[in-house]
Amino acid sequence: MRFASLGSGSAGNALVVEVKQTRLMLDCGFSVKETTSRLARLNLTPNDITGIVITHEHDDHAGGALKLAAKYRIPVWLTYGTLKMVTRYMPVNQYDLQLNVMDSHTAVAIADIEVQPYPVPHDAREPIQCIFTEGNLKLGVLTDVGRGTPHIEDQLNGCNALMLECNHDANMLQTGPYGWTLKKRVGGDLGHLENLDAANLLSKLDNSKLQHIMAAHLSAKNNTPLLAKSALAKVLGCELDWVGVADQLQGFNWREVV
Ligand SMILES: [Zn+2]
Ligand SMILES: [Zn+2]
Repeated sequence: MRFASLGSGSAGNALVVEVKQTRLMLDCGFSVKETTSRLARLNLTPNDITGIVITHEHDDHAGGALKLAAKYRIPVWLTYGTLKMVTRYMPVNQYDLQLNVMDSHTAVAIADIEVQPYPVPHDAREPIQCIFTEGNLKLGVLTDVGRGTPHIEDQLNGCNALMLECNHDANMLQTGPYGWTLKKRVGGDLGHLENLDAANLLSKLDNSKLQHIMAAHLSAKNNTPLLAKSALAKVLGCELDWVGVADQLQGFNWREVV
């Protein structure tokens, strides 16, 4: 199994997970053109994508997903709540779309990859995050989450690779440029995870098999890669540079899980 990010943050998200000839894209918050050029960095084209899983309707995750799916006839998996929201203003029948509704607790096998969704507290209609498995290899992804829950901890326990939201530093958010309402939203229980909450969640997990940790969905205004990396490295007792960052512009290159 290997995985790579096309970019992560409030301006767009997309992750590619590959097992053998199966390549799943988790979210697509970039335009078709932008997604295509970012896929080229990984030596991929949209035709190489087996399926797209959409976590929730926010534009930075779903903005380009259905257009890409329609253009390249890529099947899509999403919860019923997300389906309702992403097709709100869209004459779906005019598009050749294969939309598969998934239950937010039930695993689905998509070719060589098993996807285990799990519900998260976030201000969307029916948001999920996902675990990807191949045999006993496990990649956990958690972004767009206001706070950790016991169920999230259960799901992310024992991952071989983990992509974890480090959205903001609480002090930077407090003193930063956002207005009061946005500060409340981002910092609230249905908003985004701050560095220390991410670290606290990480500290509750069995990390004995962890080969990769990627800080994700960093705010450009209310966080720095150094703060995010420091928070996670402290929990793991590892070198700062062992913690990767899923950057907004570059994402990150392929990481192998063995
Ligand atoms: Zn987001
Ligand atoms: Zn969101």
